[in-house]
Amino acid sequence: MAPPDFSDRETVIDDPERPGPLFAQLRLGPHENFVYLVADPETRKAACIDPAFGVDRILSVLDRWDADLAHILHTHGHFDHVEGAPRLAEETGAAVRIHENDADALEDTGITVTRLEGGETLKTGGLPIEVHSTPGHTAGGLTYQVGHLLFTGDFLFCETAGRCDFPTGSKETMWASLQWFKKAFTDDHVICPGHDYGKTPRLRLGDAKKSNPALSHKAYEEFEKEWFLKAY
Ligand SMILES: [Zn+2]
Repeated sequence: MAPPDFSDRETVIDDPERPGPLFAQLRLGPHENFVYLVADPETRKAACIDPAFGVDRILSVLDRWDADLAHILHTHGHFDHVEGAPRLAEETGAAVRIHENDADALEDTGITVTRLEGGETLKTGGLPIEVHSTPGHTAGGLTYQVGHLLFTGDFLFCETAGRCDFPTGSKETMWASLQWFKKAFTDDHVICPGHDYGKTPRLRLGDAKKSNPALSHKAYEEFEKEWFLKAY
């Protein structure tokens, strides 16, 4: 199998001969956001992670896959990760899920929201999606895991971590989440971040451990001096 082409900022992998889920990483909107689609190739049930901008583009990929959207999943409640949920839910009937600590971001939209707390496993046809609590950028930060793919939102980018100075953010909590993350996953897991802030749009955790200061610090006192300014 050929390695993924990291030079392409929009990646759609849906070759029927290729094992594993259908996958799309779409760079959409004015803030270099990444929106993701994954789908079970057998049942054509799909999940969308962090729809905000470019809902028409998301719908066009679902259409190309002939897929039903089962879940709209949010890594956190910031506007550039949730804005597209009401329209996408209306068009597809998908369930909208977000951590209970960030759910107020969708409160006034009129859509029904299912609150997560981390630890759940969601079914997308035959494709399990594991929900992990990774607070720090916000109190309700979630990482969604599909096989070796880790959808980290603004918790962790390829070359840095998310900023912790917005409401409900916490550097201590971020540090604790990062230490858990390093132990929980292997070098072959792949970070699929919420923004296109790195040299590559996705990165193996083993490579990130060498180049990402958020993962390489050994002590909180060093980590605390880092200032992770990018991201919303
Ligand atoms: Zn954010």
